[in-house]
Amino acid sequence: KIYYDSDANLDLLKDKTIVFLGFGNQGAAQAQNLRDSGIPNEKIVVANRPDHYAEDAKSKGFNVEHDFAKAAKQADIIFLLIPDQVQPRVFNNEIAPNLKDDACIVVASGYNVFYKLLNFKPSQDIVMVAPRMIGSSVRSLYVKGKGFPCFVSSEQDGTGKALELALALSRAIGATKAGAIASSAREETAMDLFAEQALWPNIIMLFREAFSVLKEAGCSDEALCYEMWMSKEPAEIFERAAEDGFIRQLKHHSTVSQYGQLNGALNLDGSAARAHFKDILYNQVLNAKFQQEFSKIEDDLEKEGDANPLEILYQKSEASELGQAEKRVRARLAGLLAQ
Ligand code: NDP
Repeated sequence: KIYYDSDANLDLLKDKTIVFLGFGNQGAAQAQNLRDSGIPNEKIVVANRPDHYAEDAKSKGFNVEHDFAKAAKQADIIFLLIPDQVQPRVFNNEIAPNLKDDACIVVASGYNVFYKLLNFKPSQDIVMVAPRMIGSSVRSLYVKGKGFPCFVSSEQDGTGKALELALALSRAIGATKAGAIASSAREETAMDLFAEQALWPNIIMLFREAFSVLKEAGCSDEALCYEMWMSKEPAEIFERAAEDGFIRQLKHHSTVSQYGQLNGALNLDGSAARAHFKDILYNQVLNAKFQQEFSKIEDDLEKEGDANPLEILYQKSEASELGQAEKRVRARLAGLLAQ
């Protein structure tokens, strides 16, 4: 189901105090959109620690509260727009104990709700309003009068009005203009983590191996980097896929290319990939194994240098033939790339 502006009633937000926890990518964009949709500024509170995010919110005219407990006490509706990995600690310790029994909690990602990491009361509404866009686009599309793709769901209907509220909030941030798609925290989390852990790792691996094979056959670093991604051709292909169709975009390619791609893809046996994908989906994502393992290293992600596991993954990945070649090419073509 797809919800449009006509499905959403902004009057439901009348007299509600709406708190934005976080004023980063999504927080800054959604708070401004909501205010520009007619929610009075005095009913909006940005809860943020005293730093440049808080200063940014103040400079945009928002009321900023540094004390999260105080902000939570006022909230009829609270958007959780701080990074997913810090939400459980901040929400469970500082927000949840101070929230009203009938408060509505809005998440922009299904992760913490699906994995049951946030302590809600049964009387509260839990809704997901999850833009499929980076924050700057959420704002710029709204300013242009356009909508943006967004998933919406009611995850817990404490007051009996959770979905209606979710739709009103979706409209207020500009998400129902182009149609907000009915979804769920489970679906959003499954697709998000599947893409991150199954689809894109395979794409990275395919590029890495393709690079090595072509390099072995005598292709130059420069030619390979440009041919494979630096020309931005893959970005154009995906843009065409969104506009014309995943397969139909091939019509923009040469006949040789169309034949090669369609015939090649049909002749590939996808059964090994399918088994691997199912393994990731069921044995990592849906059964929470990944989440449990990730939670063990979360604190290390704040560390500097080699103590940060993400840094080690970058080092290993960039040590590949592709990574090393790209480094050389970027150094040699620094002037050209800067133009
Ligand atoms: P950001 O990384 O931009 O969040 C930054 C904000 O979080 C700042 O206000 C920052 O303030 C605050 N913050 C960071 N750490 C803490 C902490 N330990 N305690 C309190 N506040 C903290 O987040 P995003 O906007 O990227 O993501 C917010 C939500 O939106 C997530 O659920 C994400 O999955 C979802 N989402 C994000 C998208 C995106 O494109 N980025 C797209 C769709 C959904 P300070 O550091 O001052 O505390």
